[in-house]
Amino acid sequence: MTEQSTSTEPFDAVDVIRAKRDKEALSDAQIDWLVDAYTRGVVADEQMSAMTMAILLNGMSRAEISRWTSAMIASGERMSFAGLSRPTADKHSTGGVGDKITLPLAPLVAAFDVAVPQLSGRGLGHTGGTLDKLEAIPGWRASLTNDEMMSQLESVGAVICAAGTGLAPADRKLYALRDVTATVEAIPLIASSIMSKKIAEGTGALVLDVKVGSGAFMKTLDSARELARTMVDLGTDAGVRTVALVTDMSVPLGLTAGNALEVRESLEVLAGGGPSDVVDLTVALAVEMLAAAGRPASEADVREALAGGRAMDKWRAMIAAQGGDVDAPLPVAKETEILVAPRSGVLTSLDAYAVGVAARRLGAGRARKEDAVQAAAGVEIHVKPGDDVAAGQPVLTLHTDTPERFARAREALDGAWAVEHESAGAVLRDILTGAAGALASIDGGSGAMAGAGLVADDSVVLDRIV
Ligand code: URA
Repeated sequence: MTEQSTSTEPFDAVDVIRAKRDKEALSDAQIDWLVDAYTRGVVADEQMSAMTMAILLNGMSRAEISRWTSAMIASGERMSFAGLSRPTADKHSTGGVGDKITLPLAPLVAAFDVAVPQLSGRGLGHTGGTLDKLEAIPGWRASLTNDEMMSQLESVGAVICAAGTGLAPADRKLYALRDVTATVEAIPLIASSIMSKKIAEGTGALVLDVKVGSGAFMKTLDSARELARTMVDLGTDAGVRTVALVTDMSVPLGLTAGNALEVRESLEVLAGGGPSDVVDLTVALAVEMLAAAGRPASEADVREALAGGRAMDKWRAMIAAQGGDVDAPLPVAKETEILVAPRSGVLTSLDAYAVGVAARRLGAGRARKEDAVQAAAGVEIHVKPGDDVAAGQPVLTLHTDTPERFARAREALDGAWAVEHESAGAVLRDILTGAAGALASIDGGSGAMAGAGLVADDSVVLDRIV
């Protein structure tokens, strides 16, 4: 029996659940009470599970999502960066495989005198987490007090750290519940989860990287666009200058998925190299963040900050300020296993979800929240779709400290990649035809498309929503 049946609580949780189950709109008072009562432990987990499933199945109106987000913000503290001497811009990705973009992006934007307060999370499910990646650097510390965060933002200009427990505690509880009740994918719940934290954090500008594809929570372009539109509206209504880029997550980003492996790749980007998809997305997001913060810079200037070492200087200062030894060697896995091409041809597919699951099974992610991760575990990708490959040539290298994990990782990758006897020209034609089709369907869609600049000529960005 829950407490409210004997107390002076204004609502009965069962009535509120029934209303959403029967597709009724929840009132502001019902939403405020439900989120608050769940945070206080008055509404039980099983009741909130039923409610989140009802929301997943029946949706929420814009007004309900907005109120739900406000109630989540009100569950905790609000931060303010108003005292800083520079404008702030933050970025949030909805999660993907090989998505290490925050690592080079935060110091890159800080190199333009815009402060980046990047409150980040840990990996869950098949997606990686920024904090897990940075913890591969010896000595680096994820937890900072609010005062430490402010002082680092003033002195260095960039912080990547864990969100304090005071920020949107309702989301902390609700996210863990959603993860074990198959209700993560509900657009109202993802949008309110992300935006409550970002609005409570107090950033002036926010760029959202909304992932779409097998390795993302949103599997279709339409659902990704809907999520992006919902979050942009929530941010704009709260006075945060918010832009969303919808980007592809059907193939892993870059050539690595795993903590130390991704730090290594990020260092290549910061040194002016790195895989072109990682560089292009980092640059596209930096251009958006700088514009949203009121300090616009051209793409050429941003690329020069990578090539010329200014972003690397910021990275070194940012990591050192949090105790990280920037010159220490990164951990290397005790064991590796190489998967080779069975024949000569072209790699025609490499499924992001499967690579994410394999990386997690190798130890890079968690099966349960309380699990520890292996810093060196993960998947190294030698060939991307469209590349030629010779029989016997390495396609993937699996890394782990615990070789008994190889078998389950290989299972995850079964059927997730293919080498066909095709000419590279034929595959390229297919890809180009597919891309043209995708862009045509965006252009023909309703509403939110904001056509400017990036969409038509930048293949990493599928859509831009303001
Ligand atoms: N990231 C979040 O913070 N919340 C979600 O619901 C999904 C991704």
